[in-house]
Amino acid sequence: QPVAIVCVGMAGSGKTTFMQRINSYLHSKRTPPYVLNLDPAVRTVPFDSNIDIRDSVNYKEVMKQYNLGPNGGILTSLNLFATKIDQILGLLEKRCGPPTQEEKAAGKKGIQNILVDTPGQIEVFVWSASGDILLSSIASSFPTVIAYIIDTPRTASTSTFMSNMLYACSILYKTKLPMILVFNKTDVKDAEFAKEWMTDFEAFQAALRQEQETGSYGGAEGGEAGVSGLGGGSGYMGSLLNSMSLMLEEFYSHLSVVGVSSMTGQGVDEFFEAVQEKKAEFLRDYRPELERRQ
Ligand code: GDP
Ligand code: MG
Repeated sequence: QPVAIVCVGMAGSGKTTFMQRINSYLHSKRTPPYVLNLDPAVRTVPFDSNIDIRDSVNYKEVMKQYNLGPNGGILTSLNLFATKIDQILGLLEKRCGPPTQEEKAAGKKGIQNILVDTPGQIEVFVWSASGDILLSSIASSFPTVIAYIIDTPRTASTSTFMSNMLYACSILYKTKLPMILVFNKTDVKDAEFAKEWMTDFEAFQAALRQEQETGSYGGAEGGEAGVSGLGGGSGYMGSLLNSMSLMLEEFYSHLSVVGVSSMTGQGVDEFFEAVQEKKAEFLRDYRPELERRQ
């Protein structure tokens, strides 16, 4: 049975580029995936998709017709698309089911991966009723894992790192699906620091202390004015981050973490190893729970 990989992440984290990378990787392994694009606002999709939300809803027209801004337009497009979930599932089950006798005879193994790209604005997908419908429908038919894509160079300070982890935590809690943290753009910034912070609390505290001393809250690279404005760190930010990280230790223990570069393809092998792990976890822990809830 194929596994569905749903890419979520902040706008600009590299979801679409990552999709493009793993898509071409799977093609090179002669196991082409089945691909869904759920981003109505993307101009060009750099990979062939089997189901594209843009084929059934015109985002620009939706904005005009309902007098909406960009976010409202994306959300309404997703809502309209979600009303067709029956057809989509029908297609998925037909195309991604076990191979027919003829296909088997021809040495074909059938689809092994379903890739799903989601709108740039993460909240539109994760916190909307239609996103919920789409995701839980897929998860009720296929083992499903969330790939949470992170912009590594932009998460290099302790505070942006922590906010990103908290967001991932809330998505894990909301979707109740196994999750892989994908630290993307490792060609720009290596993800070792993140792995270290996630496994070694002391290391995170040390980084925290160092940032306090040098007053570089918000990160040298991020430099978000609001965050560095809170600065100082001796105050509530420092102690908040401290206690958060203890809570997050528990969260981290449930995750797989990989560093990848969607640009160079580095780390993609490792990502697919994590997918197999999480697929097994889905079948073992999540599916029984899903069935119990239905
Ligand atoms: P999305 O909004 O999450 O779909 O992000 P995109 O895939 O559109 O990527 C946002 C920007 O990040 C683009 O300019 C990409 O070229 C860039 N990007 C994505 N992945 C990588 C990567 O691995 N390395 C580098 N250097 N840039 C990347
Ligand atoms: Mg995108």
